[in-house]
Amino acid sequence: MALTGIEIFKKLPKTNCGECGVPTCLAFAMKLAAGQAELSACPYVSEEAKAALEEASAPPIRPLAIGPGDKALKIGGETVMFRHEKRFVNPTGIAVLISDKMSEAEVDLRLQKLNELKFERVGLTLQADLVAVKSETGDAAKFEALAKKAKEKLDGKGLVLMSENPQILGPAAKACADRKPLLYAATKANADALAALAKEISAPLAVKGGNLDELTELTTKLTGAGLKDLVLDSGARTPAKILEDQIVIRRAALLKKFRPLGFPTITFPCEMTTDPMKETLLASMLVAKYGGIVVLADIEGHTLFPLLLERMNIFTDPQRPMATTQGIYEIGGPNENSPVLITSNFSLTYFIVSGEIEGSRIPSWLLVKDTEGLSVMTAWAAGKFGADAIAPFVKKCGIADKVKHRKLIIPGYAAVISGELEEELPDWKISIGPREAGHIPAYLKMWKAEKK
Ligand code: SF4
Repeated sequence: MALTGIEIFKKLPKTNCGECGVPTCLAFAMKLAAGQAELSACPYVSEEAKAALEEASAPPIRPLAIGPGDKALKIGGETVMFRHEKRFVNPTGIAVLISDKMSEAEVDLRLQKLNELKFERVGLTLQADLVAVKSETGDAAKFEALAKKAKEKLDGKGLVLMSENPQILGPAAKACADRKPLLYAATKANADALAALAKEISAPLAVKGGNLDELTELTTKLTGAGLKDLVLDSGARTPAKILEDQIVIRRAALLKKFRPLGFPTITFPCEMTTDPMKETLLASMLVAKYGGIVVLADIEGHTLFPLLLERMNIFTDPQRPMATTQGIYEIGGPNENSPVLITSNFSLTYFIVSGEIEGSRIPSWLLVKDTEGLSVMTAWAAGKFGADAIAPFVKKCGIADKVKHRKLIIPGYAAVISGELEEELPDWKISIGPREAGHIPAYLKMWKAEKK
């Protein structure tokens, strides 16, 4: 049973030193109780108190890793029902199914798509994360060979090994033990054998119940046997029921601190429909509604990309805009005569502007001013992209040593600061660029022609 804030407070040092980031031990205790802080933030908790507080300070949904080291996919660790309350922590893992019933060519094609379907967006590489290897033939050797093939061909992606038969799952799991696969799935019938296997190879274990009550019984039994890293499958395979179960599990874990359901989930849109578009829609719902992993039957660029984009949007921190580092960016190998443009460090702005400059094929210098991740207009309104903020940056950043001319192109949306900026930077001629990034190529071509 989780401790209350006051019970936690009694075990803290009560010195109110503030090193944990909040002013008092009581405030820290309240945050711990709400799952909004980690016990490790207080450097002064005694070992004895640590042991006692472990349960209370653990995130209500246990975080766990599938795969080894840095490349592991992290799931769970969530602390809120809704993104705007704080943020969602670990993005839903997207898995693609292969089976030992498929032809070699089919398997190869899916593995190839898993490796090759990647998308660049605001400086991030978006791609699927896992392969789910399923035994359908009942042939242990065939399953093991397929698991090994997936392991070898997919460098850096996680494995989900799927068989409820311990005799079939065992050899494949041991062959892939170094990749710390997720074993799927412990049920009422095989819980003891799969618990022993998961312990033996230190792998996380998925647990499948016929309903939430059965799932609760199973996780209670497995945690009692010493297993910590569990992943939940409520068994639901219809859209309405899976949505209901996902919400009930999240509410029980977060709001009721109900430990038996305090684990990430695995969901199977691939078992709910044969229509790829419908499957994508279901996966989209499950990315938004608490799926730790969604398993898809197959992926294509036009189905995977929207899912990845949705996932990126949902799992970015709403309180922290995505930002690019302040500095001078060289685009297309500029020289001392190349144009100099300036923009804000809102990631989307940076990537759109730099993309348009690149597309113009006119090598340029792009100055990116730290505006705390705000777009040009918002930053200007907040006083972070005014003449008094830009001028010191232009003087200090070193661009004057890189170009012979003194011409600075500012965004069209910041035209209002041009006069003031000319006063602050008397050596520079300020030109007003286009308002829309899409017009940058034409503008730069004009700039080049005028210079000639
Ligand atoms: Fe109290 Fe520890 Fe926070 Fe200091 S760091 S205020 S001792 S909880």
